[in-house]
Amino acid sequence: MDRSRSLEASRNPALARRSDNGGSPGVPVFAIDHEHRLLDTGFLASPHCDARPDPGDISLLVVHAISLPPGEVGTAHNRRNICDLFLGRLDCGADPYFESLRGLRVSAHACIFRDGSVVQLVPFDRRAWHAGESRFAGRERCNDFSIGIELEGCDTLQFEDSQYAALAGLAAAIGRRYPAIGRERIVGHSDIAPGRKTDPGPHFDWQRLMRLMDADR
Ligand SMILES: [Zn+2]
Repeated sequence: MDRSRSLEASRNPALARRSDNGGSPGVPVFAIDHEHRLLDTGFLASPHCDARPDPGDISLLVVHAISLPPGEVGTAHNRRNICDLFLGRLDCGADPYFESLRGLRVSAHACIFRDGSVVQLVPFDRRAWHAGESRFAGRERCNDFSIGIELEGCDTLQFEDSQYAALAGLAAAIGRRYPAIGRERIVGHSDIAPGRKTDPGPHFDWQRLMRLMDADR
C-alpha cells in the first residue's frame, strides 16, 4: 500500500477495511441494516423518494455518473452540488448550467465520490428517482424495482480506482441482501435509457467491476 492510499484509507472508514486482492485497491466490505441503510456510511435523507409499488421487488442495480457543473469532478464544490441536487436544495442561480435543473426532483440511493467515499441518500427499500423513462428486459419504469448508484464522474474522464473498489463492495453487499440482483442485472443508465442517457459513459470499465467483485468472493 503506498502512502497516498494509506492516507486515503485513514480518511475513509469503509476503505480502511480493504482486503488485499493483489495490488488493486481492496474492496471494502459494506453491510446493510434492517432499515435498508448502509452501516458505517454517511446518510443524508433525500425528500426525493417514495414507496415502491412492490416493496419485495428490488431486482436491478443501475450505475450512473454525475458531475455538477458537467466535467467538474474531485472538488468539494462538485461534491456539495451533487448532494444538494439530490436533497432538493441546489442553488440554481449559482451556475448558468444549474438553471436547466431548476424544479428537477431527482435522487439516487447512494453516491460514490472520487476518493471512494460513499453517501447514502435513500434507503434501499424506498423508490429513488434516478432512472426516468427507462426499460429493462421489456419492463418499464425501472425506478420501481431498481437501486441507483451515482459515481462522481463524467463521460470524458476515467473513474478512480477507489470508486471501482467502493462500487464492487456496494454491489456485493446489495447482491447479498437483494439476491434477485445477479451480475446480469447490474446495468448502466445508458442501457435502460438508450438514446437519452450516456452515463456512466465510455470510460466505465464493466469488466474491471466484475473482476473486483469476483476477487472479493
Ligand atoms: Zn444517470
